[in-house]
This record gives sequence, structure tokens and C-alpha cells, in this order.
Amino acid sequence: MSDQASPLIVCKSCGNSFHGNYCNECGEKVLKPADRSFKTFLSNILIAITFADSKMIKTLWLVLSKPGFVSKEFAEGRRVNYLKPISLFFVLNLIYFFFPLIQLFNATLTTQLSSPWGVYFKNIIAHKMVDMGLNLPSFQLIYHQKTVGFAKLMVMVFVVIASLPLNILYWKRNRFFTDHVGYMVELACFNLFVNAITLSILAFFGLGKYLNEEVLTFIFISTNLYFLLRSGNIFYHEKSWRLVLKSVLMIGFLKIALEVYRAILFFVTIWSM
Ligand SMILES: [Zn+2]
Repeated sequence: MSDQASPLIVCKSCGNSFHGNYCNECGEKVLKPADRSFKTFLSNILIAITFADSKMIKTLWLVLSKPGFVSKEFAEGRRVNYLKPISLFFVLNLIYFFFPLIQLFNATLTTQLSSPWGVYFKNIIAHKMVDMGLNLPSFQLIYHQKTVGFAKLMVMVFVVIASLPLNILYWKRNRFFTDHVGYMVELACFNLFVNAITLSILAFFGLGKYLNEEVLTFIFISTNLYFLLRSGNIFYHEKSWRLVLKSVLMIGFLKIALEVYRAILFFVTIWSM
């Protein structure tokens, strides 16, 4: 088949007309159904290259100032101008796990015990300690070492769980399953930067005494509500009272997703010991 026989495509990033799979001006890739498959999404996670550059700063700034915009650009095929949200996520995750002073996607034994299933966890821990012949301080030490490693890998579990209600809340919005997941990756980036890294820096510089449970809950809810309201409008084109209702519902689902994720993290950690 000659080049002339393939259809003329207008580039979604730069407007150039070309034949083939890539724009010959800017290199943008033409999206095919296979590019949106979950398998491709997973392999992209594995091959994501992570480095800080101007693209990363620009992408991070957009995540903070125009939540949902980068996800929209990615879902609609305008990708070359931004760092992949998944790459941004891994960079932020790496920074966060150097000094995880604020508990978000990692969770110490103390945090786990204050979860809704804390009483049940206590029993499991007691049995495990007897089995291993350990006292509480040494058990905690081993547990913490293991769980930090797993948390780094398993945040994607949270992202996928959190994206599930979106398939129902926004099912009319012509978005694919992987678009919802990609959008939750953006939310995870936002939370890693605002509620994990920034708050950890504040805690490091002595403001930790003001960040008690109530203050943290207030900060988590208000910042996530900001993200959901703005991105619900930008990414899903939702408006008025429906946008407010769906955003408030999503806050509840995010809390559930976080608790389910932490419970899975707990069991994986215990089983590995
Ligand atoms: Zn182009």
C-alpha cells in the first residue's frame, strides 16, 4: 500500500496534515483502540521513564492550577507537550518516600490499628507476633520496613479502586475505563504533591504540631474537593448541582478506596512476614 492510499490525518497537537501513525512535524502518535487497552496502560507503567525537566514542571503546574486538564489532553490524544501523568506520579512517589512524614499512601501499624478494621487487625498482629516469637517493638520495625516497600508499588491499587465509581457517576461522558484510571492517576499526583510532599515539608520545618488529625482531615477534604470540582468540570464537562453532588460523593468513595487500599496493604505486609 502506498502512502497516498493511507488517509490524511490532521495532528491533534500541532495541526500538521500527514500520512501514517506519527506526525512528521512534532512526533505525536495517532491513538488506536489498542493504545487505550488496560494491558497497554500497565506496560506503560513499567516502561515509564522518570526524569525532571521543563515538561515535568509544566505538567505538575497544570495538575495544580487546572486539575483534569492534563487527563483531558491525554484522553483526547494531545500528549507530546506533557510528561505522562504516570511518570509524574513515579517521580513524586520517589520524592515522597524519602521523607514520608505525613501518612497518606503508606501506613504505619498505628494508622492501621485506628482504621475501621483495627480491632480485627489487632488479633491478627497478636497471633503473628506469637508465631514469630517477637515483641511489639521488633515486630513494628520489621512491619514498617516491609510495608513502605509494598506501599510504593501498591498505590496503583488505590488508583484503580478509586476510578471504579467514576464509570457509574460519569458513564454518559464518553470516557473509557482507562481514561477514568488516568484521571485518578492525576488525582494521586495532586495528593502526593499537595497532601504528602508539601505537608511533609511543613512538618519538617516545625509546623507539625498544628497538623493534628482534625486539621489534616480538613486539609485533605478541602483540597480534594477543589480538585474534584475543577476537574469534574474540565475533564467530564459536568456543571451546576450535579457537579457538586458527584464531587461530594467522590470524596466519600476516595475515603473508602483509601481504607480498602490500606487493608490490602496490611494483609500483603503480614503475609510477607
Ligand atoms: Zn504534530
